[in-house]
Amino acid sequence: ASAVLLAVCLTACGQEARGGSRYKPDDGKGGTIGLAMPTKASERWIADGENMAEQFKKAGYETDLQYGDDKVENQVAQLENMITKGHRLLVVAAIDGSALTDVLDRAHEAGIPVISYDRLILGTPNVDYYASFDNERVGELQGRYIVDRLGLGEPEKGTDETFNVELFAGSPDDNNTKYFWNGAMKVLKPYLDTGQIVVPSGQKRMSQATTLRWDGGTAQKRMDDLISKNYGDREVDAVLSPYDGISIGVISALKSAGYSGKDLPVVTGQDAELASVKSVIRGEQTQTVFKDTRKLAAQAVRMGDAVLHGRKPKVNNTTDYDNGKKTVPAFLLKPVSVDRKNTDLLVREGYFTTGQLK
Ligand code: BGC
Repeated sequence: ASAVLLAVCLTACGQEARGGSRYKPDDGKGGTIGLAMPTKASERWIADGENMAEQFKKAGYETDLQYGDDKVENQVAQLENMITKGHRLLVVAAIDGSALTDVLDRAHEAGIPVISYDRLILGTPNVDYYASFDNERVGELQGRYIVDRLGLGEPEKGTDETFNVELFAGSPDDNNTKYFWNGAMKVLKPYLDTGQIVVPSGQKRMSQATTLRWDGGTAQKRMDDLISKNYGDREVDAVLSPYDGISIGVISALKSAGYSGKDLPVVTGQDAELASVKSVIRGEQTQTVFKDTRKLAAQAVRMGDAVLHGRKPKVNNTTDYDNGKKTVPAFLLKPVSVDRKNTDLLVREGYFTTGQLK
C-alpha cells in the first residue's frame, strides 16, 4: 500500500523519481493528449477521433478531441488552446498541411511533440512522426481497378478500342492528394499514352482535377459540367475518384444525366464509408479502398506513447515523406481494395456488422 501511495504522491506532486526508484512519476502516464481532427463531415474522421480517444485512454492518458469543421483558423485556434493548456502531445490531421507552421513553432517552444496523423504536415521541422497509410498505393489500387474493370491488358499501341475516363483529385491543400494522384497515374499514364484511355474533357492535370476540401457537392458540379460539355455523343466508361464523398457527388451527376444500373461507369473511391459500401453492394459505386481507422489510431497511440516514454517508435518508411523541412519518419499501413466481391472482408474484420450492410 505504501508503494501505491508513493506512486500516487510522486505523480500528483509532479516530482521526479530519482536514485533507482521504480516509481517514475513521468512514466508517460497521465496528462492529456490533444487530438486535432479536420471535420465531422466524413465518417472516417469521427471514427479516427473516437478510436484514438479510446485507445489513448486505455494507455493511461486523458484526451482532448477537437474537430476543425474544415476551417483552417478553427484548427489553428484549437491547437493554440491545447498548447496553452499544456497538453503533452499533439496528434494532428491537418486541414491545410501548410498552415500550421506558426502554431507548431509554439508547440516546439513548449516542448510538446507532434504526430502528423494520416496527412503530412508541411513546411515545419516541428513534426516528430507520421502515421498514415501507403498513400501512393491507394492511388495505384484505384488506377489498377479501372484498368482491370475496363478489361485492358498490357498497354498496347494501335488498338481501336478506347475508353472515356474522367479524373478527379482530392483537396489541393492536402499532401495526400498528390500521392493518390501519382499512384493512380503510374497505372493510367501508359494507357493514356497509347490512347487506350482518353480523357474527353482534356482535364488531365492534377491542378485541373482537384476538389477543394474533398467536397462532394463541388465534385458533383464539376461532373455535371464535364458531362454536359463533352459527352453529347459518347459515354463515360470510368471515373477516377479518390474518396467516397467525391464518388457520391460524381454518381449523382451521372444519374442526373441519365446513367443508371449497368450503364453506370466504373467509379472508384476511398475509405469504405458505410453509405458507399452500401452503394458498392447495390452496384452503383464500383470500388472503394479500405483503410482500417482502428489500426491507424493504434499506430498513432503506439507512436505517441513511445515518444512520451523517450523511446523511438517503430517506423517503416524514412525516405518518402519530405515535408520541405525534413523527411518525417513514418509508419505506413496497407490499404485494401474492396468491391462487390469482397465486402464481406469488412464484416470479417469487424469494421461493419452484416446488419449494417443490409
Ligand atoms: C485521407 C482520405 C480521405 C480524405 C478526405 C485524406 O487525407 O487520407 O482517407 O478520404 O482525406 O477526408
